[in-house]
Amino acid sequence: MKIKTNYHSHNTFCDGKSTMEDMVLGAIDKHFTHFGISSHAPYPLDNDFALKEENFFAYRTEFERLKDKYKNKINLFLGLEMDFVPHLIENIRQNAETKYHLDFFIGSVHQVVNTMSEIRSPMSNADTWFIDGSKQEKYDNGLNLLFDGDIRKGVICFYTQQIEMIKKNRPDVLGHADKIVMHNKDRYFKENEPWYMDAVVGLWDTVIKYDTIVEVNTRGIYRKRHNDFYPSSTWLKYLVEKHIPLTIATDCHKSEETDCCYGEALEYLKFIGCKDLYYFDGSWKAEKTENYIV
Ligand SMILES: [Zn+2]
Ligand SMILES: [Zn+2]
Repeated sequence: MKIKTNYHSHNTFCDGKSTMEDMVLGAIDKHFTHFGISSHAPYPLDNDFALKEENFFAYRTEFERLKDKYKNKINLFLGLEMDFVPHLIENIRQNAETKYHLDFFIGSVHQVVNTMSEIRSPMSNADTWFIDGSKQEKYDNGLNLLFDGDIRKGVICFYTQQIEMIKKNRPDVLGHADKIVMHNKDRYFKENEPWYMDAVVGLWDTVIKYDTIVEVNTRGIYRKRHNDFYPSSTWLKYLVEKHIPLTIATDCHKSEETDCCYGEALEYLKFIGCKDLYYFDGSWKAEKTENYIV
C-alpha cells in the first residue's frame, strides 16, 4: 500500500485563501491518497478566522459534492479544527459527533484562558490570550493583559488547557501541540528550561493515557514563522520513543501548500526511527512509515 495523507487543511469557508475545490485539486496534484477538510469550527466570539455557523450546511454540501466528484482520485474526509476554551466551548466532541456529524476532528488551542485566576466565561477576545496569528505584538500584548506578563503562568495555562481538552473530549488528533513557542522566539523562555519541559511532559503523559494521535505540523517552517515542526524535533524523538501515534499535517491555507515540508517531516520521522504513522479511512489505523510517499 502506497499512502500519502494530510487531515489538516483550511479553505475559504474559514481563513483559508483557496476554495475547498482548489484545495482538493491541490491535494490530487500532490498525489495525496487521503485528505481531510478541517476549517476552523464555528467560534462563539466575534472573529474573522472561523467557519460561520450558518454556513456549516453549505460546507458539508460542498464537501459531499467534491467527495463524489473526485472519488476515483482521492479519499476525502470531513472534519473541523475545533478550539477548546474553558467556560466557553467545552463540549467539542459532542459537537463533532451529534451536531456536525464529522468524520474526524482536530482539537487545538489558540485562545488561552487564565484558569488560575479567571472563572467567568470569556466575553470577548480580550478575555483570552491569542497565541497564533502573524503578529508577535498581539502575543506580547495578550500575555501582558491576561497574565501580567508572567510567561510561566501563561504557558502552564496553555498546556493545562490542552490536557483538559483531551480529558474531556478525546480529540482524534491534537493540533500543533507546542505552538506557544512560535512567537516566543527564545525571548521569554528557552525550551530546555525544566519548568517548561515539565509542562510539556505533563501533556505527553495525558496523550499517552488517552491514546491521542499527535500531528506533526509543518506550517511554521514553510511560513517561516518558526524553525521547527510543532511539536519540535527534540520532542518528536521523545514521542517516537514513547510510541505515541503520529500523523503528518501541513495545516495548509492555500492550494499550493497542501504538501509543504511534508517530505521533510517524513524524512525526519524515518530518521528518528518512527516505524508507523496514522491515517484515517473511517477509523484511525497505523501504516508503516516506509509505505508513505512524498
Ligand atoms: Zn490551528
Ligand atoms: Zn489549522
